[in-house]
Amino acid sequence: MTVNLLGFNREALTEWLATWGEKPFRARQLMRWIHQEGVADFSRMTDLSRGARQELTRRAGVMVPELVSEQIARDGTRKWLLSLGGGNAIETVFIPEAQRGTLCISSQVGCALDCSFCSTGRQGFNRNLTTAEIVGQVWWANQALGANESNERVISNVVLMGMGEPLLNYEAVVNSLDILLDDQGYGLSRRRVTLSTSGIVPALDRLRERAPVALAVSLHAPDDELRDTLVPINRKYPLKELMAACQRYLERAPRDFITFEYVMLDGVNDSDAHAEALLRLVHGVPCKFNLIPFNPFPQSGYRCSVRHRIERFRDILMAAGLVVTVRKTRGDDIDAACGQLAGQVMDRSRRDQRRATVSQSEHLA
Ligand code: SAH
Ligand code: SF4
Repeated sequence: MTVNLLGFNREALTEWLATWGEKPFRARQLMRWIHQEGVADFSRMTDLSRGARQELTRRAGVMVPELVSEQIARDGTRKWLLSLGGGNAIETVFIPEAQRGTLCISSQVGCALDCSFCSTGRQGFNRNLTTAEIVGQVWWANQALGANESNERVISNVVLMGMGEPLLNYEAVVNSLDILLDDQGYGLSRRRVTLSTSGIVPALDRLRERAPVALAVSLHAPDDELRDTLVPINRKYPLKELMAACQRYLERAPRDFITFEYVMLDGVNDSDAHAEALLRLVHGVPCKFNLIPFNPFPQSGYRCSVRHRIERFRDILMAAGLVVTVRKTRGDDIDAACGQLAGQVMDRSRRDQRRATVSQSEHLA
């Protein structure tokens, strides 16, 4: 089987090269060609000896997910549906802004966590992405955006906020982070890569030691009772443990802060009392808040909070001295907004079937 070099961080690439007698500096050369120049064809890697190029062609490849479709929203947001074979596809979204370009990448096909307001969760879960598939999204986007020919950095930030729970695909995700942060790879600073998690506490502790990138935590509720219903993983890692893990994470990165994400659900988690309870919950944790207007999808059963409610909620948090942003909804005309990413998931957890059975029995009762 041909080896996919997109899946190797520098250490793994160096080791692999050594198995056939190549020197460590080749790893640096190769990484620059692949990730910085966007070159997949070994014959174009001109500073490699002819013998090495032939040997690489024989043993390896740079294999990228295949494009199924591209959509461009009115605001310039682009969404790519990329096929992974076997009926699975994932979504990758590029969000251009005046001062930066953010790429939102996926880490799993679907998600097993089933948060009640998330369309990815509703699709069920099929499998983890490999490192090559995670990094392949960045490689692909650079290519599609013409970034390799440009002198400026087109993708300045990467967020792991697409499909899936990144910390439930820990190994592949941290290897991908290595490549994103490596000077010979994408050369992004730790603060320009954000991992968003629903709060897998033991994995947060490991990430802190391994690759402490910027952290976004999906909070969505100020107390366990409500969070249990919105983010079911809360039953396993309740808020007290999650807050302690956030504190520990920041010990490793003292000048940093946690971004708490909070989806605004009309009549569910958006009252003044909820905002006040939030202030008590996060007391002492250096943080910012990102309020996310709920993005509807069919049969979600939720509505987004009305605008003045979101503003009032924001004002209560701000009055206590917190930095709060309300996320602008981007790309919603092409379903590229948060929680709308659905891809194509061959659901192995048969969630749809289970749901159908439940609603049928409800109907009968
Ligand atoms: N699994 C990770 C990362 C992917 S979800 C996590 O949960 O953090 C990225 C963000 O989108 C999360 O904050 C998630 O709660 C939010 N989100 C999910 N569905 C949404 C929806 N329908 N509208 C708005 N935000 C949503
Ligand atoms: Fe999974 Fe995140 Fe969606 Fe929850 S919000 S189901 S953790 S992708």
